[in-house]
Amino acid sequence: MLIVQKFGGTSVGDLERIQNVANRVVESKKAGNDVVVVVSAMSGETNKLVAYAEHFSSTPARAEMDMLLSSGERVTASLLSIALNEMGHSTVSMTGRKAGILTDSHHTKARIEEINPEAMKSAIQEGKIIVVAGFQGVSMEGNVTTLGRGGSDLSAVAIAGAIDADLCEIYTDVSGIYTTDPRIEPKAKKLDKISYDEMLELASLGAKVLQNRSVELAKKLNVNLVTRTSFSNEEGTLITKEENIMEKPLVSGIALDKNQARISLMGVADKPGIASDIFGKLATSDVNIDMIIQNKSHDDRTNIDFTVPISDIADAKKVVDTFMNNGDIEADSYNEKICKVSIVGVGMKSHTGVAAKAFATMANENININMISTSEIKVSMVISEKYAELAVRSLHNAYELDK
Ligand code: ADP
Ligand code: ASP
Ligand code: MG
Repeated sequence: MLIVQKFGGTSVGDLERIQNVANRVVESKKAGNDVVVVVSAMSGETNKLVAYAEHFSSTPARAEMDMLLSSGERVTASLLSIALNEMGHSTVSMTGRKAGILTDSHHTKARIEEINPEAMKSAIQEGKIIVVAGFQGVSMEGNVTTLGRGGSDLSAVAIAGAIDADLCEIYTDVSGIYTTDPRIEPKAKKLDKISYDEMLELASLGAKVLQNRSVELAKKLNVNLVTRTSFSNEEGTLITKEENIMEKPLVSGIALDKNQARISLMGVADKPGIASDIFGKLATSDVNIDMIIQNKSHDDRTNIDFTVPISDIADAKKVVDTFMNNGDIEADSYNEKICKVSIVGVGMKSHTGVAAKAFATMANENININMISTSEIKVSMVISEKYAELAVRSLHNAYELDK
């Protein structure tokens, strides 16, 4: 088999753990597989580099951030390669550029445009174990780019697709995908399988166990994706097509996203094209909008509330300021003390009352819901951040996910 094995930050968190990863890779190789390894930076390393940059500037140039942050993955890739070599294996480490990962030039959240897998393919031919630095690529202009936080998952899936791997294993610090974050609810249950669509919702709604774009791509390229732990031989969770899953529970999981902020625009000029103008400019500035609420207007003025990732607030504020300056918005406010809890399940498509139960559960706990959004397979609620964990546990209990 040709296998891509991705090891996350905790799995390569110190030198002993990197050795543990090397042992695991060698085991796979000895079992007769060709292995391409993708690594993250050692845990905490990327955050440390971000903090270094913030020491000098609150708005460092994004291209410089990519130069900086991509270095963390290079450290791990070369160390693992050295360890494997010392164990008697022929290895080569590759940066994103060497691995042929071409991206657009949206620094710090670049998209992969294509992969030229020639260098990887010839190294595989030569029987080498390849160790790729995850999270990074190179733009058409030749600059190093990164793929967004958690982006090594995306590197792994994209490489698996490009070299037509039989399997893509994501090794992390939990033994698979659980009904909710097991660090919040210890009663969470590990799932044997989950559909791409449900996993995509969970990941997009805050379950950072997989980066959402990696799941999107796995679905598109039909990559066999397994999440498991690097600390034991326990079987993980298979992420697969919905038709491969026999039992479809009503609700499969609960996600929590504490990384959201609510932006309120007051006294917005209520005229045709204003929403398109504001949200168009926010989109051009790479601000990721999630929920939007527009209130009834008074005296040709209205209020619009929406949510964005906390990291996009500064960029959003710049856009909002231009509308404040020309009088189209009277006042703005920014609230980081909110969170989004979501329930996800394909079973919702064919059942009623799922959302009502979520609202009743919040009511029972006296938790006020600020915003709601739903789709075919999810219900999301914005609530005050101080109730985040309580909300997750109550919902987990209400839908009997621990059973
Ligand atoms: P890595 O460094 O290996 O990429 P991450 O920290 O990005 O690992 O993701 C793993 C973490 O995701 C777990 O430690 C867990 O706290 C969190 N997590 C959130 N939701 C879930 C879920 N539904 N199932 C499993 N883990 C989850
Ligand atoms: N090191 C990067 C991050 O912390 C990428 C990754 O770990 O996937 O976001
Ligand atoms: Mg991760």
